[in-house]
Amino acid sequence: MGVVGGSIAGCAMAVAGTRAGADVTVYERSDGALQDRGLGIVIPPDLHGRLVELGYLDAAMPTAPVAEHVWLARSPGSGGTRELARQPSPVTPCNWGRLWQSLRASAGGARHHRGRPVTSVERVPAGGALIRTADGEEAYDIVVGADGHRSLTRQTVAPGLRPEPAGYLVWRGTIPVSALTGRTLELLRGAWVTLGFPGGHGIFYLIPGAAGGDPRERLLAYAIYASPPASPPGEEREPAPYVREIAEEHFPDEWAGIVARSEHASLVCHPVADLHAPRAADPPFVLAGDAAGITRPHTASGAVKALQDALCLERALGACASPAEALHRYTAERTPEGARLVELGRRLGAAQVERTPDWSAMGQAEVDTWFRAVLAGNRSYLYDY
Ligand SMILES: Cc1cc2nc3c(=O)[nH]c(=O)nc-3n(C[C@H](O)[C@H](O)[C@H](O)COP(=O)(O)OP(=O)(O)OC[C@H]3O[C@@H](n4cnc5c(N)ncnc54)[C@H](O)[C@@H]3O)c2cc1C
Repeated sequence: MGVVGGSIAGCAMAVAGTRAGADVTVYERSDGALQDRGLGIVIPPDLHGRLVELGYLDAAMPTAPVAEHVWLARSPGSGGTRELARQPSPVTPCNWGRLWQSLRASAGGARHHRGRPVTSVERVPAGGALIRTADGEEAYDIVVGADGHRSLTRQTVAPGLRPEPAGYLVWRGTIPVSALTGRTLELLRGAWVTLGFPGGHGIFYLIPGAAGGDPRERLLAYAIYASPPASPPGEEREPAPYVREIAEEHFPDEWAGIVARSEHASLVCHPVADLHAPRAADPPFVLAGDAAGITRPHTASGAVKALQDALCLERALGACASPAEALHRYTAERTPEGARLVELGRRLGAAQVERTPDWSAMGQAEVDTWFRAVLAGNRSYLYDY
């Protein structure tokens, strides 16, 4: 089995392949240190438990679990913080780099080529497919496209398919926990937070630091969703000043202070987009993670989906007599799940960015009723109440 991409999806698929008895080679374009990406990734506790049990993740990988979700907004007419609602929401926040490191260690049974971009993949009429790099080509029974949102492998399975922009952006950052006041830190030790404002919202949660599991080394991870800044054509605004502007205009003083005045450990701006491949596999090709589909980050499910893709592949390879049969089983399970998550992301984005409610006028009952209507029966591990 050849795997294009060695990030979360690529390493998880490599673990799945080796556990199912395949000889696996991973090709990763980057020769940089993937573990240095210190951003936040939330996964459901039961998935975390299953991945540890099966040996995909090391039980010692630090996490920062919380049990509740708290909705906040700025108090009308003052800079104070108003709590709108609080709901049970057990989640397991991880540090992206530590999650990748743990998967990479579990994928030690595969061959890993770093700094080796795949230039093309091609179906072989007799069966299997070729992976080409600048160094030559290799034939595989199964080729996994785990090459992210601009996947070259997906172009073979679904030519011409492109991400559809949502029309707004997300700024994703991390701040050392020392920037937090006692009260905010106390809140975040037990809950993840949504801070609503007109035209967008911010999500805040603690994650383990890059170095270890010491709670004093934790980072505050955030994702702020809003419209792009107005800037002259061809000129891109720096993310830090715009995030500061949003925080100062819309956040309660306490939260604006954290975002606007803190030294950031990381800050990046991502476009938000939807994409769903019509088939998660077309033997001998199989797509995983963002290569198979991009769901808006409101679902906190891109990495979750990649990990579930891997569990599904392992199960299918173990249960089926041939790789082709296994990939048909994979596509039957994962294609509808990808479509469901894209739809969920659209609903969450419409409600929390495109048509935001008057947050500050809402209380527990209004938030509960509003969010049930937003989900309209769709499942989300974040809002499972
Ligand atoms: C703001 C934000 C918050 C998020 N929060 C969460 C969350 O809380 N929970 C969650 O589950 N998900 C979350 N996600 C989504 C998650 O980050 C992604 O879905 C996930 O990291 C995708 O992993 P991947 O391995 O599929 O893709 P990537 O991480 O993009 O990896 C693709 C890899 O393929 C390599 N590659 C590409 N082309 C080639 C080539 N030609 N040859 C060789 N290698 C190649 C790249 O170098 C890269 O390493 C969030 C996303 C955003 C933007």
